[in-house]
Amino acid sequence: MKLLEDMIREKGIVKEGNVLKVDSFLNHRMDIKLFNEMGKEFKRLFADKNINKILTIEASGIGIACIAAQYFDVPVVFAKKAQSINIDGDVYSTSITSFTHKREYQVIVSKKYLSGEDHILIIDDFLANGCALEGLIKLVHDAGATVEGIGIAVEKGFQNGGKIIRDMGMNLHSLAIVESMDASTGEIVFREDA
Ligand code: 5GP
Repeated sequence: MKLLEDMIREKGIVKEGNVLKVDSFLNHRMDIKLFNEMGKEFKRLFADKNINKILTIEASGIGIACIAAQYFDVPVVFAKKAQSINIDGDVYSTSITSFTHKREYQVIVSKKYLSGEDHILIIDDFLANGCALEGLIKLVHDAGATVEGIGIAVEKGFQNGGKIIRDMGMNLHSLAIVESMDASTGEIVFREDA
């Protein structure tokens, strides 16, 4: 998606350790016009899917998911990061290793908000090694629900998450796929077909 790629080129900062900082428009300050265009594009990409709920993960996925949800006219549920001590039988839970924070944490969704009848679109801001998505997919499957599609804002194509998730047979669309990025020059190259 050209608008997102242009914004990343203009405002994104490449950090050491394969981290792309997009705090000024995506996950700290949020550019709502951009989010609106992303929501429209997700709707176009998943128009033929019967989606009744969007699932995301706190915190950075929530804003993107909420704006997109207006185009699908469905509610948003977000997986919460939880202390394992709080986890009881009323929730689906899984553990996720955070790419940016390099630690493992539990995420939960209440059984009240995910059921076997649900047809889910998963939305998140970034796809790196795929751990967050694997966790969200597991929560959906544990509930007996169906993943209809996965929409990602920025996929780092040089990390293996995209391959893992596509090899699972998931209908994954990323609005921008970073093919390579260089922390010393700041250069960011995008995959053509995204
Ligand atoms: P994964 O689980 O696919 O390795 O990483 C996905 C999660 O890590 C996303 O939810 C996102 O919050 C975070 N993340 C991964 N890579 C980056 C990055 O380069 N920049 C930012 N801002 N977040 C990232």
